[in-house]
Amino acid sequence: MAQFDPKNLKTIGVYASGGDAPGMNAAIRAVVRTAISQNLKVVGIVQGYTGFLEKKFIPMDLRSVANIVQRGGSILKAGRCVDFLQAEVRKTAVENVRAAGIGGLVCIGGDGSFTGANLLWQEHKMPIVGVPGTIDNDIFGTDHTIGFDTAVNTALDAIDRIRDTAASHDRLFIVEVMGRDSGFIAVAAGLAGGAEDIFIPEHPFQIEKTVDLIKRGVARGKMSSILVTAEGQKPGRAYDLADSIRKHSGYLATVCILGHIQRGGTPSASDRLLASRIGSGAVEKLIQGQCDIMVGTSGENLVAVELSQCLKQKKHVNRKLIELAQILSN
Ligand code: ADP
Repeated sequence: MAQFDPKNLKTIGVYASGGDAPGMNAAIRAVVRTAISQNLKVVGIVQGYTGFLEKKFIPMDLRSVANIVQRGGSILKAGRCVDFLQAEVRKTAVENVRAAGIGGLVCIGGDGSFTGANLLWQEHKMPIVGVPGTIDNDIFGTDHTIGFDTAVNTALDAIDRIRDTAASHDRLFIVEVMGRDSGFIAVAAGLAGGAEDIFIPEHPFQIEKTVDLIKRGVARGKMSSILVTAEGQKPGRAYDLADSIRKHSGYLATVCILGHIQRGGTPSASDRLLASRIGSGAVEKLIQGQCDIMVGTSGENLVAVELSQCLKQKKHVNRKLIELAQILSN
């Protein structure tokens, strides 16, 4: 595990990067207030890596994070910075950060943001600790990422509402949730929402099996069904599925794409707790001179995992949960 000398650590910087996720504000609050309680100064960097380049540095005090624990999004904004893929740009970024007196950083984001953070340590020995903040839950080394639980609950709320209509009109619905490369949201919301079948990018599916499942349900007297799909690489995948089902069975499915409503909203209790614990834990690690790690959770415990491991290894969806959804929706 990478170490640095924390003796001269007087000021830490905190930033959110990539897509926003509910609970990022609770994490920022935890970072700021833990650091100040340990006599450190805190600088907020606005708009992720863009803020490094444009020197969007704002001093944070205890009151600067008042009344944000319940707010979705990120008061420091988030976002993407394509230029950060260039080594020269990263060099300028670190020079700017050091000139502002910042001796360590907390990065709240997903695997793209962690890749940038990992490079800043490797290339310039800039100490950084990662806080997993993404609704997708697709980061290796932590049970959950900040924002996932809220996103699942938002999707679930939508599924519950759609079920009312599906049941009233004897319809088949396909609900598309977020998840380009990963099906964590689809599996959790699908199973909890009583979906008949769940489609995820990691798992090839046979439409014949799904059609068979629906047909058997109809034969048992089932009048309505809901299928849940992750968007995959091509948002709008639900329309392709509906088309395929129609061709294979003649059933007409109504498509509902949830889209960006899953990214915002009031963070759930679970996400606020997670963000508070991990945000605070990240500052503790910097104070101990540990860096190039992500702080996550394993069961009840906080864990530290090397960023390189988080980036190298893939976290897998538990596919048995899809089979369970199929059985339980009987
Ligand atoms: P997330 O952190 O949610 O996965 P992105 O993948 O969009 O979101 O990454 C956020 C930002 O992290 C990018 O806009 C870029 O500034 C930085 N980043 C991503 N990949 C790299 C990379 N390979 N090298 C350097 N910086 C990167």
